[in-house]
Amino acid sequence: MIKENDQKIAERIKDSNSILIISHVRPDADAAGSVLGLGLALENAGKKVQMVLEDGAEKFIYLPGSERITQKPAGEVDMIIVVDCSDPDRVGGALAEYGGPSLVVDHHKTNLNFGEYNVVESDQVATAAILFDHMPTWGLSFDADVASCLLSGIVGDTIGFRTPNVNSDVMRKAGALMDLGADLAHIYREELVMKSFKAIRYWGAGLNRMEHDDGLVWTSLRLADRKEIGYPGNDDADLVNVLSSVKEAKIALIFVEQPHNMVKVSWRTRPGMDVSGIAFEFGGGGHAAAAGADIEGTLEDVMEDVIIETRKLLDKIRK
Ligand code: 5GP
Ligand code: MN
Repeated sequence: MIKENDQKIAERIKDSNSILIISHVRPDADAAGSVLGLGLALENAGKKVQMVLEDGAEKFIYLPGSERITQKPAGEVDMIIVVDCSDPDRVGGALAEYGGPSLVVDHHKTNLNFGEYNVVESDQVATAAILFDHMPTWGLSFDADVASCLLSGIVGDTIGFRTPNVNSDVMRKAGALMDLGADLAHIYREELVMKSFKAIRYWGAGLNRMEHDDGLVWTSLRLADRKEIGYPGNDDADLVNVLSSVKEAKIALIFVEQPHNMVKVSWRTRPGMDVSGIAFEFGGGGHAAAAGADIEGTLEDVMEDVIIETRKLLDKIRK
């Protein structure tokens, strides 16, 4: 039976001609895969669709339709959908001009439910998995391209089916998406295995500075590293996954220096611990096992504050 909320969303979609879909800055595979999967399905249903990621989708050229992603909305729209984003500020500047979203689809525990309709399911591994469940109830169907984008979101957020929230239901969804035409080996390789030469050199800079103190492992990536190496983008090139594979780390932390006196912090922890609260206190958000925040200040100051607070959290958990 289709739930009332889904029925209303289906009607809202049916009544809209021009739809804007948007996700968060520094997009990951779930953000890009969810924007594209939903966007392509809406296009197949005859809608005019804008798919927007403020930082672009260069990293996702292997995804069908990625060339359609723009960095800014344009013109009139009659429905705004935000995916994989817990907080309206995280989509960048776009919503300031366009107003609040009609629909928010997300799996972050810290979601602020800022849509007219909210489909927020924090037990799901990825926003793409939520879309897989709900899109048919909204009158949307899957083809091979839509399936590839959604599988990409699931592969990204589970780091290749490695996170503890992966269960047989997730594997069945992945299987269904493969049956629809998604190429798992291709997605896995493009998303998780292959890295550019510059990305690996950039890792080197971070790994050289890696520190460990009683269950905490951390490092920083600096503007000067990116300049010297020529690494494009302001992200960590997924170095955080390497840090969280350090056996001694109960909590891994990475600090990525940003322009304009800002620092992007990522926390990763083990099953049974929760870092979403500490990220939220620093103005960010996320999941129990993986969370992040953009914090104002110099790299040195932010590192000091965050390490002190994270140390307290770890000591509290151990008691
Ligand atoms: P990452 O550390 O890989 O950027 O993010 C880990 C998780 O935390 C992701 O689910 C991401 O969406 C969320 N996250 C990261 N940074 C922020 C932030 O500044 N604000 C919020 N609300 N969530 C964030
Ligand atoms: Mn996600």
